[in-house]
Amino acid sequence: MDHYFERIKNGRLKLHALEQELPPEEAVKVRRSFLEDETGVSLSALGKFTIDIDRVVRRNIENMIGAVQVPVGIAGPLRVRGEHADGHFYVPLATTEGALVASVNRGAAVITRAGGADARILRDGMTRAPVFAARDVVHAAKIAEWVTNHRDVIAGAAESTTSHGRMLGLVAYVTGTNVFVRMEFDTKDAMGMNMVTIASEKASELIESETGARLVALSGNMCTDKKPAAMNLIQGRGKTVIAGVFLPETLVSEVLKTDAHTLSEVNHRKNLIGSARAGSLGFNAHAANVVAAMFIACGQDAAHVVEGSSAITDAEVREGGVYVSVTMPSLQLGTVGGGTGIDTQRECLSLLGVSGGGDPPGTNAKRFAEIVACTVLAGEISLLGALGARHLAKAHKTLGRG
Ligand code: NAP
Repeated sequence: MDHYFERIKNGRLKLHALEQELPPEEAVKVRRSFLEDETGVSLSALGKFTIDIDRVVRRNIENMIGAVQVPVGIAGPLRVRGEHADGHFYVPLATTEGALVASVNRGAAVITRAGGADARILRDGMTRAPVFAARDVVHAAKIAEWVTNHRDVIAGAAESTTSHGRMLGLVAYVTGTNVFVRMEFDTKDAMGMNMVTIASEKASELIESETGARLVALSGNMCTDKKPAAMNLIQGRGKTVIAGVFLPETLVSEVLKTDAHTLSEVNHRKNLIGSARAGSLGFNAHAANVVAAMFIACGQDAAHVVEGSSAITDAEVREGGVYVSVTMPSLQLGTVGGGTGIDTQRECLSLLGVSGGGDPPGTNAKRFAEIVACTVLAGEISLLGALGARHLAKAHKTLGRG
């Protein structure tokens, strides 16, 4: 150990290069011990975990020193009546927010007792938008025209990099001498960011050579990845999913201790008017809580909670009850690739029956998206109910305090 510490300290061995000399498990231990030695902080808890180091250092993490553990709870059974997911599901939620799992569990119980929530995917496509520089505005217009007229040849170049990805379309946006080419792909069971980035690079090389455009950045931020953007909410990015359920008045009063009218009023004044007044992009109560907890449990890219949580919740009073729905324009998720293959995350996906590639490809990710949307709906129903019954603070006092 001392031999490595010495070389790291005098700069002859980089901390991140330990795997070049040691098996990954040893490299992680030496790196952690070095940090303990340097900082005087014990990292013994960080060093206890079950995930396969060999796997994650190759695909998911650099300079690894250990793993943070997030407790996982279960909500359900949740009855989902999707086009792809049809059944009762136990939903894993990784969170440290006390009362969250209990709340979602209550929402799941209401949905299940009501006969289940319907879910449909309206749209499915992952985007990348490289930015090109043109010589002047005339050149910019010509580039956009060429791109628009050569969709098939650009798709051919892009698709040569993947056996699963298919280009669905592209749109060129010109701003002065900047040309953004927003390309959209069906990425099957993959969330698809790596896939479409690699495909877009090939397409960009073709656009450069055919038009004289200069590629400035493979991502020009009109994609838009991991930033709140109206574009994603209006046009969709990843999966656009809706879920809804009719709750009879008896169920609302029995389980949620409120009534249909109150539930709808809370939604209207809080989720719709309050969010509008605040200039929010999310017209919901706490979709981010459910999206984050499911994404962490199931190996998703947690940064996509940014777009995934921009949901709109609606609650319409109907004869004999209330119809509650959520609309999620930009849910970016996958069941292959990224963190989905890490042991613990894979188990969570397996619990939902969606781990790995679907048969046919794409069906597992669609199933997963419908389950996420219905779980978000459960969270919304429960929180709206708690606010309507004025139970929110009480639940947090009981369940969420250290
Ligand atoms: P990935 O880890 O690159 O793996 C996806 C690959 O799995 C596909 O390209 C495909 O190979 C293969 N595959 C096997 N079975 C499949 C199936 N049934 N459906 C679809 N693909 C299948 O995953 P990714 O989803 O493209 O990217 C996710 C990762 O990208 C995450 O780790 C995320 O954090 C990261 N990320 C990257 C960027 C970026 O700009 N590069 C940005 C944000 C996030 P073929 O293509 O050969 O068919």
